[in-house]
Amino acid sequence: MMIHKKLSTLLIMTASVFLLSACSNNNQTAVSADTAPDMTLVNAGAEVKAADAAKAAASPSEYTAKDHDYTAKEVSEIEREYFTLPSAAEESSIYVEPVEGIPDDFIRGVDASEVLSIENSGAKYYDSEGNEQDVFKILSQSGVNYIRLRIWNNPYNLDGNGYGGGNCDLQTAVSLGVRATKYGMKVLIDFHYSDFWADPERQLSPVAWQNLSDEDKCLALYDFTYDSLETLICAGVDVSMVQVGNETNNGLSGETDFDTICRLFNSGSQAVRKISEVYDKDIAVALHYTNSTDYEKIDNICAGLLENNVDYDILGLSYYTFWSGSFEQFGNVMSHVKNEYGKDVMLAEFSYPFTDQDGDCYANSAAGGEMSAGYTSSVQSQSTMIRDMCALTYDNGGIGVFYWGGTWIPVGSDYETNMELWEKYGSGWATSYADSYDHENVGSYYGGSAWDNQALFDFDGKVLPSLDTFKYLGTGTICDPAVDYIPDINIDVLVGRELVMPDTVFAIYNDRSLNGEVSVTWDESELESADTSKDGEYTVTGRTDDGHIVTATVNVGYVNIADNPGFEEEDYSMWDVTYEGDSNPTDFQDNGADAKTGDMSFHFWSEDNMSFTISQTKTDLTPGVYMVSVFSQGGDMNDDCSMELYAIADGVEYTVSFMDTSWCNWQNPVIYDIPVTDGEITFGVRMNLCPKSWGTLDDFSLCLTDTVD
Ligand code: CA
Repeated sequence: MMIHKKLSTLLIMTASVFLLSACSNNNQTAVSADTAPDMTLVNAGAEVKAADAAKAAASPSEYTAKDHDYTAKEVSEIEREYFTLPSAAEESSIYVEPVEGIPDDFIRGVDASEVLSIENSGAKYYDSEGNEQDVFKILSQSGVNYIRLRIWNNPYNLDGNGYGGGNCDLQTAVSLGVRATKYGMKVLIDFHYSDFWADPERQLSPVAWQNLSDEDKCLALYDFTYDSLETLICAGVDVSMVQVGNETNNGLSGETDFDTICRLFNSGSQAVRKISEVYDKDIAVALHYTNSTDYEKIDNICAGLLENNVDYDILGLSYYTFWSGSFEQFGNVMSHVKNEYGKDVMLAEFSYPFTDQDGDCYANSAAGGEMSAGYTSSVQSQSTMIRDMCALTYDNGGIGVFYWGGTWIPVGSDYETNMELWEKYGSGWATSYADSYDHENVGSYYGGSAWDNQALFDFDGKVLPSLDTFKYLGTGTICDPAVDYIPDINIDVLVGRELVMPDTVFAIYNDRSLNGEVSVTWDESELESADTSKDGEYTVTGRTDDGHIVTATVNVGYVNIADNPGFEEEDYSMWDVTYEGDSNPTDFQDNGADAKTGDMSFHFWSEDNMSFTISQTKTDLTPGVYMVSVFSQGGDMNDDCSMELYAIADGVEYTVSFMDTSWCNWQNPVIYDIPVTDGEITFGVRMNLCPKSWGTLDDFSLCLTDTVD
């Protein structure tokens, strides 16, 4: 998962404010983010640096491959408890639309890597009745059939201080994997092949491998994979899938050369194939990438893997809907990989907030609200997102999904207590001890969870009804219709006109097929303070009959009614271009550097003299007074050149001259007070230019500024 860069940017901007608001909500003492982490650094700093230097010094420069005997050791039998999926729709507080045809063995996975560190910190998980319960039992009862657990090679410094993020070493995976197996769930082991987070931002080699040659690193990776899996399998863990690397777009284990990465992949998959054979277990090999909505990028990756004969069964893709492209793009990528390369595909990571609040006084990555169109930060929207991601994956030939950060709940009640627990047990995203391993990404931003508002448990550890979505995918639920949320609206008002608020607003229901208008009452005092006598922006809050809040942003100004005014739409038929001579000196140009806004602009250049016009005629206009304007930039004009913005209405022509001077020095000629009584206006630009002058026009506007009463 891509936790860092976005997080640090967000923190720099909002941490202090966020901590204040979150902590005061919980009646706790507010702490400034600027000072608190530094205090901890002072306590631990010197000791950490010494310990980590020693760890690095201990790193060997050669690796001797192990002599495995390849016989199956004794495997612990774990008595398993299974929960069956409902056979018919049940009553629930969440609405779930059934996914037609989805099989029971569709992977309904949750990454639960942090659980042990959270429990060690003293936090507990509770079932829907409020009873303390093994979180794996709760997950299994809710339809989850697969648990994902990451493994870092050695997420501790030499003094044994963990780097955080769950301190996910092999023993942690064994402990959690045994519990997952006990409740009848399969286990996906997610090897990062690093001592800490590996994702598009960083793929650091484990310290123990950092001085090894490529060949030795392949051997070490093979042995680490084989030995780890053997330990897990012998402990009874039902390992059924192994991820060789995590979000490996930009590297793996400190290597960035694609051929080398492919050799490392094959070392990992060879180890998985061998252990499958020795223990007679069916274990799938998965690779894992981001950029999952970029068709070309993923196609290139798959082609490269094919060319390098990389042995894998499943391509896993991370897709965070609020950061990446559309559902359709993601679906296309999935079905392409399956059809073109014959690989199984899965949604390896996704998530969505159930609230816009922060539960642990550490700012959240996805701060809430309507982050993906059609979903707000609510339990119902989280459920709908889970259901829709399963449907999207299934409909495009995918084998399943894994929810990320579902069990990562807050550990304490105030910032200072939390920081102590995060440092001691690794239950936040990073501890101060991680800084010397990954200084670039950790720095002073170590701390708690930026994901607690996307967990599948509330801040007190009680399971959210949205977790049951996994259970209800096949049958759906019985649930009374209710409004999930009302999207914010924008209202444009002409300067000088009366602000008229709508009587109804569009509501998103728990059952999306019911979406429609509901009546709304607007706040009187906010309405009164919205001054429409001049340009401005105001917020007016409304309330529906059942108490849902809607926020309207009122923009007072003029409305541009020109068609395709900035040339961003492909249809240019509304624009009339005429020129003298044989060749057209103009074109619609796709180059953001020459556009006022967007990518497109109207461009001109010629070896010879140029004489041309571009104009648009609008009919059926409201009688009134209009304004016309345009933006223009360019250069190499001389004294013989002329440029003119013009408008023709009611048989009268209006003009204003202007002249371009240099690149991106935007001229903005305007013609005001154009009376239009017969509903028609023609507006445009005409130019007579010298050879080799050049420039662009962009963002025309035609606005009604006053009506005739
Ligand atoms: Ca947080």
